[in-house]
Amino acid sequence: MDEDVQQLVERRQKVMGGAYRLFYREPVHLVRGRGARLWDAAGREYIDMYNNVASLGHCHPAVIEAVTAQMSQLNTHTRYLHETVVDYTERLLETFPAAIDRAMYMCTGSEANDLAIRVAQQYTGARGIIVTSEAYHGTSALTSGASPALGSGQPLAPEVRAVPAPDTYREGADAGARFARDVRAAAADLAAHGHGTAALLIDSILSSDGVLPGPRGMLGAAAAEVRAAGGIVIADEVQPGFGRTGDTFWGFERHALDPEIVTLGKPMGNGMPVSGLVARGDVLAAFSDDLPYFNTFGGNPVSMAAASAVLRVLQEERLMEHSARIGGQLLESLSTLADRHELVGDVRGAGLFIGFELVEDRTTKAPARTAALQVIEELRRRGVLTSVAGPYGNVLKLRPPLAFQESDIAPVVAALDDSLRVVEH
Ligand code: PMP
Repeated sequence: MDEDVQQLVERRQKVMGGAYRLFYREPVHLVRGRGARLWDAAGREYIDMYNNVASLGHCHPAVIEAVTAQMSQLNTHTRYLHETVVDYTERLLETFPAAIDRAMYMCTGSEANDLAIRVAQQYTGARGIIVTSEAYHGTSALTSGASPALGSGQPLAPEVRAVPAPDTYREGADAGARFARDVRAAAADLAAHGHGTAALLIDSILSSDGVLPGPRGMLGAAAAEVRAAGGIVIADEVQPGFGRTGDTFWGFERHALDPEIVTLGKPMGNGMPVSGLVARGDVLAAFSDDLPYFNTFGGNPVSMAAASAVLRVLQEERLMEHSARIGGQLLESLSTLADRHELVGDVRGAGLFIGFELVEDRTTKAPARTAALQVIEELRRRGVLTSVAGPYGNVLKLRPPLAFQESDIAPVVAALDDSLRVVEH
C-alpha cells in the first residue's frame, strides 16, 4: 500500500470508525475524474465501471457550468419561489406516462423511499411493504436491514416482507411466475398479521439482488398480485433510471410495472445530492394536502440547476440510445469471455448495466464468491474499478458512466480476460 494511502486510512479510521466501508484491501484515493476515467493521488488512471452517479461522466462541463452559475447567484432553502424547480419538474414529468403528474424533491434516494412508503401507507390505509431479499432501498429503518450486503440481513420492521428476486439464470423461465406467487403469499401473510399490503417497493434492474434484468414484462404478474391485495407499486429508479437500461428511459417501463410512485436519485444530479419522488396526483393528494412536507435542501436552486443540465444533456446527446448501443456491444464482447473461462456462468444486462456472474461449476452453478472478489482486486490492478452484488456476492456489477465509449470496451474486456486467467491459475 502507498504510504500516504496507509496514513489516510489510519487517520480516517481514528475519527470516522469502520461503519462506512471502503472498497478494496488497498483503498483507492481518487483525486480527479473526467468522463469515464478516474485518477488516484499517485497519478494512476482507472476506467470507472462502477459509478452510476456521475452518469453523464465525471465533471461534466454542462453540470459544472450550471451549478457554478446558480451558486454565484443564489442558493437558498425551498420555502421561497424559484423558477428552475418548476421548469425542471415540467420537463421531468414529460418523461413519464401521463398519469404520473406530480413531483417532490429531497437529497438522497433513502429519503425518497422513506417518503414513498409513507405516501403508500397513507393512500392505502395499510402498513405492509414487500421488497426483494437483497434489495437496498436506503438507510430507512423499514428496509435497510433487508440486504445482507448493506444491512443486518433481516427486515427491521414487522410489516416488511422480503421475497427472493426472480433469477432466470438459476430458476429458468418460471422465475417471474414464482416471484408473483411469493409476492401473493407475502401479501397473504401481511393480511394475516393485520398489516395489509401498502406497496411492493422494487428496483426493476434488481441491482443488489445480482443485476437481474430478466425478460421484458417479468415483474408484471407480481405487480398485479400486489394490486389485487390492495397495494400499489413503488418503482425505485435510483439505479436503473435516467436512460441507463437503454431501451427505455425508466427501468419500470421494461417490465410494464405501471407504478403509482417512482423514486429517483443517484444520476439525477450527476453527483450533486438531489433525489425525487414522482407520483400520480391522486395518490399524492391525500398525503400532501393533509401532511405538508418540508426538506431544507430538497429541490434547492443549485441542485435543480444540476438536475436540469443532466436532463438536457441526456436528451440532447441521446444518451439512452448510446447506452443501448454501447451496452449491447459491451455485453457481446464480455460474453465471448465465456469461451475461454470456465468461471463465467452468465453475462446479462440492459444497456450499460451488466451483471457478470462467476460460478465454480456451470452445471451446479455453485457461486464463485472468492474468485469474484479476487477478480475485483485483479481488475483494480489493471485499472478497472468495479464491485460485486447478489445473494452470493459472485456477480460483477458493470455499470460505467454513460460517457463510456466504444473505444473503452477493448481495454475493459482485456483486463477482465487477464484477471480471470490469473484467478483461475
Ligand atoms: N435505492 C437503490 C436501488 C439504491 O441503490 C440506493 C443506494 N445504493 C438507494 C435507494 C439509496 O440511495 P441513497 O444512498 O442516495 O440514500
